Amino acid sequence: MGQDVHKYSIKGLSCANCALKIENTLKDQNFADVQLNFATRVLTFSCGEKKCDSHSKEINAIISKIEPGAQAFPEITMDQPQDRNWIAIVRITVSLLLLGLGIVLTNPSMTEQVILTGYMSFFLAYFIAGWKVLKNAILQLRNYDFTNEYILMSVATIGAIIIQEIPEAVAVMVFYTIGEYLQTKAINHSRQSIGSLLDIRPDQAHLVVADSITTVPIAEVKPDDIILVKPGERIPLDGKIVKGHSNLDMTTLTGESRPVVVKEDDEVLSGSITSSSIHIQVTSPCYDSTVSRILNAVENAAKNKSKTELFITRFARYYTPLVLLLALFIAIIPPLLFRQAFDVWVYRAFVILVISCPCALVVSIPLVYFSGIGKSSREGILLKGANVIDSLNEVSTVLWDKTGTLTVGKFKVITIVPIPDYSPHDILAYAALAEAHSTHPIAASIREAYGKQVDLTQIEEYEELPALGIMMKTKSNESIVVGNDKLTHKVNCPHSECIRDETAVYVIRNGEYIGHIIIDDQIKTSSYEAVKRLKSQGILNIGLLTGDSKNVAERVGKELGIDQSEIYANLMPLNKLEILERYIYKKNGVGAVIFVGDGINDAPVIARADIGVAMGGIGSDATIEAADLVIMEDNPSKLSDAIDIAKKTNRLAKQNIVLALGIKAIFILLGAMGLATMWAAVFGDVGVTILTVLNSLRLLR
Ligand code: ADP
Ligand code: MG
Repeated sequence: MGQDVHKYSIKGLSCANCALKIENTLKDQNFADVQLNFATRVLTFSCGEKKCDSHSKEINAIISKIEPGAQAFPEITMDQPQDRNWIAIVRITVSLLLLGLGIVLTNPSMTEQVILTGYMSFFLAYFIAGWKVLKNAILQLRNYDFTNEYILMSVATIGAIIIQEIPEAVAVMVFYTIGEYLQTKAINHSRQSIGSLLDIRPDQAHLVVADSITTVPIAEVKPDDIILVKPGERIPLDGKIVKGHSNLDMTTLTGESRPVVVKEDDEVLSGSITSSSIHIQVTSPCYDSTVSRILNAVENAAKNKSKTELFITRFARYYTPLVLLLALFIAIIPPLLFRQAFDVWVYRAFVILVISCPCALVVSIPLVYFSGIGKSSREGILLKGANVIDSLNEVSTVLWDKTGTLTVGKFKVITIVPIPDYSPHDILAYAALAEAHSTHPIAASIREAYGKQVDLTQIEEYEELPALGIMMKTKSNESIVVGNDKLTHKVNCPHSECIRDETAVYVIRNGEYIGHIIIDDQIKTSSYEAVKRLKSQGILNIGLLTGDSKNVAERVGKELGIDQSEIYANLMPLNKLEILERYIYKKNGVGAVIFVGDGINDAPVIARADIGVAMGGIGSDATIEAADLVIMEDNPSKLSDAIDIAKKTNRLAKQNIVLALGIKAIFILLGAMGLATMWAAVFGDVGVTILTVLNSLRLLR
């Protein structure tokens, strides 16, 4: 996305159907990348080809035409605009009282005078409860939109008044208003719980200049500025500690609740909470901080809609007009066919109108997926879209990278074996020189074992070969090759065979094998649980793909309980891709194949998998880019958490669909048979919306 992305928060947006229409209208008006998230009420779009310098006016015109009273504001606020609660409550109470009064006073045993007062009372109740609905209906008619809920309600109730079902008409209006009120409350509640999940970015920072401290908006803080973070505060921007030490609570970033100890010179990530005062030198601007990237990922996630959401969008487009036709059919055909009184069937048609609003689905389904994404981000699992939730529900194969993913990736040099003319220290010195620039965990362990500064000026030429090792030349024209067995064959240099259960790094100087370094890695304790849980979740194939040697791979695999036949060793990144594709081909369109990597040279495989998972993704742009799912904490068993959340999300979405469509279908049937009154219909309509919204929220618990 370029600079051209505009973001608005929309206040007063209360009807999900309208949100859908706004989105579609903007698309029709040639705005690009239009995305209106009903749960957060955030509208994003870009102008694309369109000239839209004064887009704010145009956007607002479109919005208020579709949902009168809604307005777009260019800043993003997650918090609720104050709902005028008490006005709604007074309106509801008064209209309820008037409705009751009307019912009592219109009792046939009353005098004519009293009955007349009773009807006055009905009409007052009708208008007090329904003026907003009627007003909106008239406004909508001007848009030639006949399928919104305001019009449905107005037509049904005015029609009922005409056929002299006055108490019913009033009751529908009053209960519809009560329902709207409760529904808004439920939606606001859910917005708040989701909002608080995402409320992990402080707006301000304490900027330290000379000896004075000023509090400024984080956008004003630039890289290299020094900021102070006080105990209990969230770190607003990524940076390096220049003064102080602390225990960091990184729960919101990784889901891991154990505090992380940091001291001077350590990197700290925005979003974590410090236990004591620290001074930080800022390393990245605010739009690029870790916490901004997380928020962006979650906000953009709504863009990739799930199959269910897409289905509901399509469904809503046909459903309402269909029900309208059905109502019309029921009002006209049976009376003509069976020569029955019109008003009986017209009443039935009105019952169907009242029940016909698709709100329950349109509101609750996106809410379910958004809650699913929010819930997982709270667990330190970033999903790049609701479509990932779909795929997670179908997982049949999980392929793991080994080094750094299932193993700690912190190698330790155990033994150094030189040939006779060399000392262990020589071997280590050559290896450390070659590994000076590598970010591979093996390189780090060799540098650590060497313990001294490497003279970087000695390096003349240098090449890192992924999954093999390093080839380099020094200023004094010595060639050094450091890497695995495969690399020694590649450079045609024989060496004494060394079969051990650890990883061996061979050192070759000027074409001559001079020794090897044995290093060892450890299996993460959480890896045992990860494999066990995947098995119990019914995942058919669990495989291990590694560039490391066969011995090491088999030892690790055996210990974790991975089947021998699914362990693949000595792989180059391209071979990993081949094996992944073999699995994708084998599943034949059914199921999904996951690849989990730690992001070091696995990006192509992560990108190709049905679900590419990057683990320990914090702080690395490239992995967040390539992956569909990022596990923030270095914990493989989080994958099973993600699958669990996805399963639950799917279950709730299905429940909502069955609940909403089921109840609507029953009421339409009962209405058509004359067994449901308008009272029942309005309770059914409102009730099911509230029920489905509340059901969606169960995810966040
Ligand atoms: P995995 O697939 O298990 O994550 P990698 O693809 O990162 O492993 O690396 C595979 C193998 O390549 C390592 O086990 C090691 O033998 C060799 N290797 C890769 N990079 C280096 C390096 N910088 N120095 C030495 N050996 C390396
Ligand atoms: Mg790796």
